[in-house]
This record gives sequence, C-alpha cells and structure tokens, in this order.
Amino acid sequence: MKIISLMGATGSIGTQTLDVIREHPTEFKLAAISVGKNIDMARKIIGEFQPELISVQDYHDCNTLKAEFPHIKFTYGNEGLIEIAVYEKADILVNAVLGSVGLHPTLQAIECGKTIAIANKETLVTAGHLVMDAAKRNNVSLLPVDSEHSAIFQALQGEKEKNIERLILTASGGSFRDRSRKEIENVTVQEALNHPNWSMGAKITIDSATMMNKGLEVIEAHWLFQIPYEKIDVLLHKESIIHSMVEFHDSSIIAQLGTPDMRVPIQYALTYPDRLPRLSANRLDLAQIGKLHFQEMDIERFRCLHFAYIAGNEGGTLPTVLNAANEAAVAAFLEGKIRFLQIEDLIEKALSNHQTIAHPSLAVIQEVDKETRKFVHSLL
Ligand code: MG
Repeated sequence: MKIISLMGATGSIGTQTLDVIREHPTEFKLAAISVGKNIDMARKIIGEFQPELISVQDYHDCNTLKAEFPHIKFTYGNEGLIEIAVYEKADILVNAVLGSVGLHPTLQAIECGKTIAIANKETLVTAGHLVMDAAKRNNVSLLPVDSEHSAIFQALQGEKEKNIERLILTASGGSFRDRSRKEIENVTVQEALNHPNWSMGAKITIDSATMMNKGLEVIEAHWLFQIPYEKIDVLLHKESIIHSMVEFHDSSIIAQLGTPDMRVPIQYALTYPDRLPRLSANRLDLAQIGKLHFQEMDIERFRCLHFAYIAGNEGGTLPTVLNAANEAAVAAFLEGKIRFLQIEDLIEKALSNHQTIAHPSLAVIQEVDKETRKFVHSLL
C-alpha cells in the first residue's frame, strides 16, 4: 500500500486525486493533506479518509478544526504546508497547490527524499533549475501529473533521451480559441471560465484562455525532460484526445491518447511504473469520434505563449517574473479589476521592467516574485 501526502486537497487536482484513492482503497492510504480556506470540504475529507495530519491556511481555522477533531493533528500556514510536504510516513507527495507558494515545500520534500507527483507547474516555472538540481542531488523522482507531461513521460518509457527530435505539446485553445483578438476584448470572467474540454480550477482555466497555461507547460517540459526550447513545439488540437507527442530522430512519433480526464495522469503518477484499472473511466472510442483536428499555433493571437518562450530562453529570474506577473494579473481579472487582454499587457510590462539575474538562489527568486506582484499591483 502506498501512503500519500496531498498538498492542495480541495482544489481540482486535489479532489480528483481523492477520486483515485477512493477507487483503490487497498492500494492507497491518504495520510496527510493541506487545504486552503475551504473548511467545509476539509471536514468531509477528514470524515471519509481519516488523515493523520492536516494543514490549513489560517490559524483561526486550525483552532476550529482542532476542537472538532481532537484525535487528529492540525497545523497551519506556510510552515504547515512544509510539514505536509515532508510528512515522514508518506511514500509519495502529490503537490497540487496553486502557484509559486508550492516551491519551498517542494524543495524541502526533495531534500527529504520524497517521490513527488507534481501538478504544481508554477514551481517548475519559477525555479526549475533549483528543483531539478535538488532532485538530481537527492536521487528523487519527479512524476508529472499535468496531462501533456504525463503523455510525454509515457511516450518516453524505454526510450533514450538522445533519440528525441522534439516534443509536441498539444493545446486545446481554451475558452476563446475560435474568437479573434477583437472579439475577446470585452469578455466576462464567466465566459473565460467556460473551458470547452477540461474541468479545472479558475486560475488554470484563465491561463488556458490566454494560452499562458501552454507557455508555463513549455517551461515545465523544458525542465522535466531537460530538452532545449527550440525542440519544444505547441500544436493546436481542439478535441484534447492526443495529450502530447514525442518525435524521434527516425521520424517516428509516439502519442498518448485518451478522453480528457485528469484522473488518468494522476493515477499513472501514483502507480508508476505500474498501472491499475480505472473502473469509472470513460473509454476512448475513436470510431465514434471519427475525426481529430490540428492547427498551427498563432503566436500573435496568443501573445502569452510568445512571452513564455522569451522568458524560458532567457532563463535566470525572467520565468519567475513571467509566473508572478501572471498570477497577480489573473487574480486581478478574476476579481473584476482588469479586462481580459490586460492580463497580457501587465505581464509584458513586468517582463520589460525586469533586469534578469542569472542563476538565482531561492531567496532571490522569492524576492523577485514578491517585487513582481507589487509592481503589477501598482499598475492596477
Ligand atoms: Mg496541462
């Protein structure tokens, strides 16, 4: 039985991780979780899974829950998140938190030798060099949970890195893929949150609509698979059936396919290198689908993808700025403070305002992250 520690249990990936655990009660045991402010959902998870350790965001919520569940250990805040990340009984940490807040706990978990199923792409974007160096030094596996990276990881099983010609990340195109830039000037938050294929959290759904999600995934792929940016391409594929592909030197392309369901890559990360049945799976029926569509990515239409390649290629602290500016701008859009296209304007301003620092330490990254958010807020 695998003992699991789960950061971000009440989010979209978190709840789908719980679905996987629920479906295989003899294979997995949930030992520790972190939740944000959704205390009602935390109560339900505690009732069903009886984890031993729970971290919440606020001190007040921590005390409330302590009184209700005196036999369970509670902790809170950033320190609490680290306690979940390094929980000693856990065999594997699922990092499903949102944003660069996941970086420090991830580094701590790596130092403790934990295998990590990583859904928290911002951590790799903001400090990929630190995470990968630490993973190598501690001989720790980072198992991708993002569907594209899981697809590439599956396509690479038994293959040699030196034989890779390029990675092809597929992109659904998000909520506005069929609209021109003119037509998205005045879209509402509600329209932006209406993703055609995937059911996901608010931030990543907005990132999909701006195409920043794919940009972050390009950087994530660069770090996870140690592939230069010129060998990572993005292809528009609106059905989200091919989750990504690898092309090899001999011109063979290996793809991984399936109906869009995040529980598949989550489960693969938890069972790797084995697989388990998925009893509730909605299986792919290609005969019924009939056709799949592909289209070249329009980098002028989706400027955020372009910014991500620039930031990734430049390296140093520029990806940190890209990520922090995006987190701040998306939060402002979700709060109704800016219009949709202003997200990319704010990111562009933050990038051009920054002087890149090469080989940044954790402290430098945290400082640049904070300064970038401050800069974006000053423009609102
Ligand atoms: Mg993805």
